[in-house]
Amino acid sequence: MRVATIPCLNDNYAYLLIDDDNRGVVIDPSEAPPVEAALEREGVELSAIWLTHHHYDHVGGVQALVETHGPLPVLGSAYDMEHGRIPCQSRGLSEGDTLDFAGLPVELLEIPGHTLGAIAYVVDGCVFSGDTLFIAGCGRVFEGTMPMMQTSMAKLRALPASTRIYCGHEYTQKNLEFAQNIEPDNAAIDARTRWANELRAAGETTMGGLLGDELDTNPFLRWDAETVISRAQRDGADADPGAVFGAIRKAKDRF
Ligand SMILES: [Zn+2]
Repeated sequence: MRVATIPCLNDNYAYLLIDDDNRGVVIDPSEAPPVEAALEREGVELSAIWLTHHHYDHVGGVQALVETHGPLPVLGSAYDMEHGRIPCQSRGLSEGDTLDFAGLPVELLEIPGHTLGAIAYVVDGCVFSGDTLFIAGCGRVFEGTMPMMQTSMAKLRALPASTRIYCGHEYTQKNLEFAQNIEPDNAAIDARTRWANELRAAGETTMGGLLGDELDTNPFLRWDAETVISRAQRDGADADPGAVFGAIRKAKDRF
């Protein structure tokens, strides 16, 4: 499996998964034209569309792609299908459902919090995490609760450290500024900042970053780190993971 990262809108990413027969699945096409350009550039025939959640800056290109290449399987969560909020959705997925891509098993994780229908796709050592886990950060909690989002982040944290993260937005540098504010003495965050700055200065994305590096640097995965707990406690939280996560998320909302 090959992954092509497709910049869309201002700071969104769609992803094209490509198999050996040059057939491809697109994840979160917020708009069609950059996806069409990527299909052409890579010489790939579109075979399905997978969505992580229903927000417009993830599904905005679905209808146009189906009109051009359809009919295509359009996959999203069972919750989003019940609520009819993903255009052209043909199948609703739940955790434990099995999919495959190019003969590889695809694991489905339900990760509610940012939205109640949020899901992640795990395939070939990569996780497509939508707006839940970002590199060095996480999405806003719009529909769920803080403990719910923390439970979802815990599911993602339990993936192998070698997992590569492909998320919905290039927010990495801003996220690292916040991480530094939470843990000013964490040298791993300084190193991660240099890593991100070098990639961005070279015009490259930070997508594909390793989960192992996130464990040392992402404050939203570090609810059991001493420094993060004491910061949350200064904001009045107790040491419960959901409360620590919630305090840090609220601090980011104000940052
Ligand atoms: Zn979103």
